[in-house]
Amino acid sequence: MSTESRKIRLIMDLRNAGVTDTRVLAAIERVPRETFIEEAFIDQAYANQALPIHCGQTISQPLVVGLMTQALETNDRHKVLEVGTGSGYQAAILAKLTRRVYTVERHRDLMAQAEERFKTLKLHNITTMVGDGYKGWPAQAPFERILVTAAARIVPPELVAQLSDEGGIMVLPVGDAADLQQEVIRVRKDGKQFTSERLFPVRFVPLVQGVPSERET
Ligand code: SAH
Repeated sequence: MSTESRKIRLIMDLRNAGVTDTRVLAAIERVPRETFIEEAFIDQAYANQALPIHCGQTISQPLVVGLMTQALETNDRHKVLEVGTGSGYQAAILAKLTRRVYTVERHRDLMAQAEERFKTLKLHNITTMVGDGYKGWPAQAPFERILVTAAARIVPPELVAQLSDEGGIMVLPVGDAADLQQEVIRVRKDGKQFTSERLFPVRFVPLVQGVPSERET
């Protein structure tokens, strides 16, 4: 089967599984997922599954990317923070849907690869930082939208603080990375009030506080 027909089939599968927002489906269609994965997995680029990337991390399953992006309710005026750049795929999807994406990754070599991909695809509205995304990006706050792609045990208070007071939305997996209890949560902020709702179960790598030591790969 050709890449193009695999991609069309994936888009149909995502729609059947609840990704109905046509802007989100169009963004998934326009970003070449094969650019973000390792050579060894190239033939699985349009399979609906997570795949390993460097540093023991994963590029998320397309369905999870679709559902989380849809839950974020983006528009092209939004300034978005992503925590956990990984391969850069989710950031590229957000770059198609919003005005500017700020993305933070704790592994320097993953970020270097992601930056190359953004350059190749001419995604000029993504700004990157190597650091601890648990703390957000205070210098650029507030953000209209925040998407976290690694699981925290609790909703990180510093991220809530950096979310816009006027209808800010944050989508993130919460739960223990060691068990199967993670859930995607959506936090909405209005004024100083915020509400949260549970959306669907997921399995993400953990959100790790601090940056890697020299020995950590
Ligand atoms: N959004 C990614 C999926 C990344 S997996 C993609 O589309 O490919 C989660 C990523 O979060 C990993 O790369 C991991 O290194 C990173 N991460 C975990 N804890 C972090 C933290 N505190 N700050 C920044 N990045 C973190």
